[in-house]
Amino acid sequence: MKLTKIDSGVLCDMGGCVKKAAYAVSMEGKPLFTRLYLCPDCAGQLKKLLDKELGGKKEVKNEKEVCRRDS
Ligand SMILES: [Zn+2]
Repeated sequence: MKLTKIDSGVLCDMGGCVKKAAYAVSMEGKPLFTRLYLCPDCAGQLKKLLDKELGGKKEVKNEKEVCRRDS
């Protein structure tokens, strides 16, 4: 799975959110339309929820690196 920073004016995929997406989450080898688009707000909230739910694991440090890998 890959997280890509985007600036293409696509809207956030979260239900009811009308903000512009800044991130796209994609599965390697899958077509682009299967990507999940997230605005910074929803991405932040999702991160908090996931941290809480998955807790304990210290793999979050790599997050910024993953964002920069743009290909
Ligand atoms: Zn959103």
